[in-house]
Amino acid sequence: MTAASTKPPVWEQRWHPLREEWVLYTAHRGGRPWIGDTHRPAETMPPHYDPGCALCPGNKRVKGENPRYTGVYWFTNDLPCFANEAPAAPAGDDFYRTRPAQGTAEVVCYSPDHAKTFVDLTDAECAAVVDLWTERYRELGARPEVHHVLIFENKGSLVGTSNPHPHCQIYAGNLIYGFTAREVESARKHWQKTGRHLGQDILARELAGPRVIAQNESFVACVPWFARYAYEVYLLPRRAVASLADLTAPERAQLGRMIREVTTRYDNLWQMPMPYVMAIHQAPTDGQDYACFPFHLEFHPPLRKPDTLKYLAGPEIGGGSMTNESDPDEKAAELRAVPAVHYKQSGKVQD
Ligand SMILES: [Zn+2]
Repeated sequence: MTAASTKPPVWEQRWHPLREEWVLYTAHRGGRPWIGDTHRPAETMPPHYDPGCALCPGNKRVKGENPRYTGVYWFTNDLPCFANEAPAAPAGDDFYRTRPAQGTAEVVCYSPDHAKTFVDLTDAECAAVVDLWTERYRELGARPEVHHVLIFENKGSLVGTSNPHPHCQIYAGNLIYGFTAREVESARKHWQKTGRHLGQDILARELAGPRVIAQNESFVACVPWFARYAYEVYLLPRRAVASLADLTAPERAQLGRMIREVTTRYDNLWQMPMPYVMAIHQAPTDGQDYACFPFHLEFHPPLRKPDTLKYLAGPEIGGGSMTNESDPDEKAAELRAVPAVHYKQSGKVQD
């Protein structure tokens, strides 16, 4: 690691060891003039209960009605993208192939309180969310038609979530999502080439570098060296584990607290709710051997500045490779420098 004073501006390509692709870094262009749209989200305080919310306790949904739940709560998505009643695929074309979209989709509410987000959960509530994710991964993954369980959270209107009720989604079907499929391959290749676990090697590099933003006994949060977004954060387990199902109860509790700390640091960065896409990357469930799969969580915030979106345009949508206009070392330092106590709670004692 070179001293900060002698470090040149980042202007290079870096190899993404999980996705096996090059990422272009152009931190020297990050401050270029911008005359496009700005996107500072409105700071509105939602009510604790919204009679029009499909996720609040006791409310009607498209199909059925929520019970008056008091803790974490899950239900089958009323309009799922996978279902076992999906129509059978028409037979016979080896070129334009089809298959049915079998499986299910679920919604997990973190809390009955419409106004909360992950940052507001107590230690016990954080652990309960991770415990429920683990239970759903085990149960859905055991179904023969479910080859992969993708757990993700879209937070904020900038990533398409109109409902602020704290929740995430689970897609569990006969499709292994693309990034996980690629990570299966990259982890296997790394294992065959080096005899080492890809996730453990990334963890060792990040622990030795300047990009760790938070850590506890079981998890390390960092802006990875190969970050694709300015404030991208990975949560890496200290142990080589392949899925939520491999975590012990104390590790699940530590994971919940680490998610709360990362989301709190995000909000504190600009003193506003930080939008992001969070995805849990874990071993597929189609019965193959995934012992070397590098379980981790990824946070992808779409903002580069409080009012500036990272637009996916010519190079990304047109060309298929990501450009990051920032230096991951500097972005990690920003996230490390903000308090671990949420700006709405500062002055109060955390539980
Ligand atoms: Zn609600």
